[in-house]
Amino acid sequence: MALDLIIRGGTVVDGSGKPRFSGDIGIKDGRIVEIGKVTTAAARMLDADGLIVSPGFIDGHTHMNAQVAWDPIGSCSCWHGVTSVVMGNCGFALAPCKPEEREWYARCLSAVEDIPTEAMAAGIDWSWETFPEYLAAVERLPKAINYGMYIGHSALRMYVMGKRALTEKATDEDMTRMARAVQQALKVGALGFSSSRASTHLTPDDTPVASRLAEWEEILERLRQVALATKRPIMFGVLATKQGDDPTSWAYQTKYIDDTVAAGGRMFGQGTTRSINAIFSLKSYLPFDVLPAWKPVRALPLEEQKKRLRDPEVRRALVAAEAAMKPRDKVFQGGGAATTDPRKPDYANLFALKGVDWDDPSVEQLSKARGQHPVEVMIDLSLADDNQVYVQPLVNESPDDVLGILRHQRTLATFSDSGAHVCQEMGSSLQTHFLSYWVRKRRAFTLEQAIKKLTHDNAVAWEMSGRGLLREGYQADIVLFEEERIRPQLPTVEKDLPGGARRLVQKAEGIRATLVNGAVTFENGEATGARSGAVLKGRLAS
Ligand SMILES: [Zn+2]
Repeated sequence: MALDLIIRGGTVVDGSGKPRFSGDIGIKDGRIVEIGKVTTAAARMLDADGLIVSPGFIDGHTHMNAQVAWDPIGSCSCWHGVTSVVMGNCGFALAPCKPEEREWYARCLSAVEDIPTEAMAAGIDWSWETFPEYLAAVERLPKAINYGMYIGHSALRMYVMGKRALTEKATDEDMTRMARAVQQALKVGALGFSSSRASTHLTPDDTPVASRLAEWEEILERLRQVALATKRPIMFGVLATKQGDDPTSWAYQTKYIDDTVAAGGRMFGQGTTRSINAIFSLKSYLPFDVLPAWKPVRALPLEEQKKRLRDPEVRRALVAAEAAMKPRDKVFQGGGAATTDPRKPDYANLFALKGVDWDDPSVEQLSKARGQHPVEVMIDLSLADDNQVYVQPLVNESPDDVLGILRHQRTLATFSDSGAHVCQEMGSSLQTHFLSYWVRKRRAFTLEQAIKKLTHDNAVAWEMSGRGLLREGYQADIVLFEEERIRPQLPTVEKDLPGGARRLVQKAEGIRATLVNGAVTFENGEATGARSGAVLKGRLAS
């Protein structure tokens, strides 16, 4: 039996956490059929000499529901070795949805997740109403990565309750209909049900999204009982923040997980590998855009803006205007509010991104060193490089917190929010960041531990059978990379969404090739045109 492909002479880190070994991998019909010294003939050979060969990375927390309709490659996650994602997190989804409510759903996604409505209008052929119809539509779409999906609480509640979803408690009748729709979704392949209680999740009219109005007993009081009664995996975001009234530490969250697991449940915490940040730049948002003195300047074409920013009189007015910004308060802000309704920046917590090693200078430090007002610093840096990006950590601000979360037995390295906050945050590079920062720079994890965290651990938590390890019989989702070079590049703002809308784009270095279901989808960072991605169905699919 000739092989379709052989990956020759790589260093295999198989996802199990066991030490690396040298070997070949033989692939046939999308699956791994041989590992070790492979002598069978193959139609194609990939030379992996000097490269790490690992399972493709799995990201369980994304929002690619809309993007999958127009982006066949699955960016920006695909550029970071990701081969499988779960979308529909935080309760947001595009199904189920009645045709007359499409625009409302799209506006909610736009308001909460910063997915531009013009991109959705131009990029989505919205042909579905029910969840099964949406899943079937995603199956037909060309895809270079695999997609699993949740049925989202907000979408479901609005579908069942209409506008009442935003103001009322669910009746028994509502609950029965929601339960029926969830069962229907699980039957066709939904991986589960997602919801959100985040205070940042508001509709365009600033009222809480539908899932937040759900009585808490709809979710948290039952969460542990559900975990214990069903033995099904339950997960939530484990985060720390110094923002807001009530700075949150992560330790009580991991304790809740430990207690539930000790009682016999299955529970996981979705962690990040670094801070979650609001991102600013001349080409996207600046914290000052809301000020009357700034608005007319920021409405100009980029080159015109630069001309004005060089004019000493204009600069003086723009710098002076900053004093009138809303003062900082105790309200927690996510990436949405932080960029569109900003408070006067805390310049000690606003960093001018110079690299991806989490050691950038703060605007306050630069201001002191240069003897300039912080606003002038930002104007000058942006004039010197219009791709200069500024980063305001919102959550998981401290590397020590992130390390504590990541080291916990039941936490997952995920939570890119890929596909959402497209011009406000950039989490899609978390995998290459994990490998370059926590493994190579900080030596906090071995490569084997980190790969396990990015692959097998996530496959187990999301019950993706046949993925997350390099094993005979497993799907050939594989990434080949240079251990000493893999890292994220700096993000830039590009106008590459349908309708010309802008977004943050971040690619990576050091990844030689990515395979999805046996086909080479990326080589040296470039998409090959292979569209071998599949829909990942849950265990309850019939
Ligand atoms: Zn999310």
